Amino acid sequence: MTFSDDFTYESRPGRVVFRPGAAVAATPGEAEHLGLSRLLVVCGSRGETVARAVADALGASCAGLHAEARMHVPVEDADRAVEAARAVGADGVVAVGGGSSIGLGKAIALRTGLPLIAVPSTYSGSEMTPVWGLTENGVKRTGRDPKVQPRSVVYDPELTVSLPVPLTVTSGINALAHAVEALYAPDTSPLIALMAEEGVRAMTEALPRLAADPADLEARGQALYAAWLCGSCLGSTTMGLHHKLCHALGGTYGLPHAETHTVVLPYALAYNGPEIPGALTVLRRALGTDDPSHALWELTGRLGAPRSLAELGLKEADVAEAAVQVAGQPYANPRPVTADGVRALLRAAHEGRQP
Ligand code: NAD
Repeated sequence: MTFSDDFTYESRPGRVVFRPGAAVAATPGEAEHLGLSRLLVVCGSRGETVARAVADALGASCAGLHAEARMHVPVEDADRAVEAARAVGADGVVAVGGGSSIGLGKAIALRTGLPLIAVPSTYSGSEMTPVWGLTENGVKRTGRDPKVQPRSVVYDPELTVSLPVPLTVTSGINALAHAVEALYAPDTSPLIALMAEEGVRAMTEALPRLAADPADLEARGQALYAAWLCGSCLGSTTMGLHHKLCHALGGTYGLPHAETHTVVLPYALAYNGPEIPGALTVLRRALGTDDPSHALWELTGRLGAPRSLAELGLKEADVAEAAVQVAGQPYANPRPVTADGVRALLRAAHEGRQP
């Protein structure tokens, strides 16, 4: 964007504390800061050890532990979590884990208005957004509500060390996608562009370091810093074709979340390329390249991430139907979204050929 364009920027309340090696010890302080004394801790089965440590650190302020978070927040899981919060008389929720755990915490906040504290263990960025998601009868609905935006976020790079390299890379690219789409969103602004550029730079610098040494705590910290910036971009802007495509591929065809973002991003960027000169200038600077979509495709391939939708389980026969579904929805995108255009994009992504 230029300063001939108008923009609106709305800051979102929320506190971020970055505590390398000390998320567990820092969480009770965040509860106290918010005046909360009966917290329900939610997590998925894999994050239970850390969540239990958080629950222990909360001591008498922990009202219970609910370790039932699953991908895409099925509505019946949300119902059970709300019941659990009500049964223990919770006055707040702490979500420990990836986007799925934070999503379950948000589902409780949406229904009950209880304040949420997030302790993320991936780079999904959900902790920085007022976006919730719920899945019912195989259809995922999403929406925005300030109630679900975590009041406090505790970032600790040590919680992400256990992320295997493939998930590190795909989760990192999921974060990058938020920054890329924010650069050409209808509600972008100079501050968002600044965060997006720095988020892309920091994440693409951290990921090769982490692929080489997943225990590199400094690089883990850099990736989490990037996830914070990219998540903030998602929280403040309206997403376009890339996110809609990933949403459809995940919701209707069951493709895995972060992996789908990773495969689709270079193609969505190439599709929008002719209409987004300003965003491309920023991305060229952040990535140190003339061709951002090719650079992203090359980076993910080099780091061993999946490159094609076929690898993720999309059938060739589903491409045409998915294209019609995505082209048929009204949403803001810099280049008109046609069924033919999306079909060509999806065909290339299905094969994994150079964008
Ligand atoms: P996830 O939370 O489902 O985690 C993926 C897998 O990694 C799970 O098996 C989990 O147990 C495991 N895991 C998590 N942290 C780990 C760690 N530190 N070490 C080892 N394993 C770990 O995946 P995600 O990509 O973080 O989140 C995806 C979900 O979040 C999707 O449902 C997506 O729609 C949602 N999301 C929402 C927003 C938003 O703003 N609302 C933003 C991004 C993603």
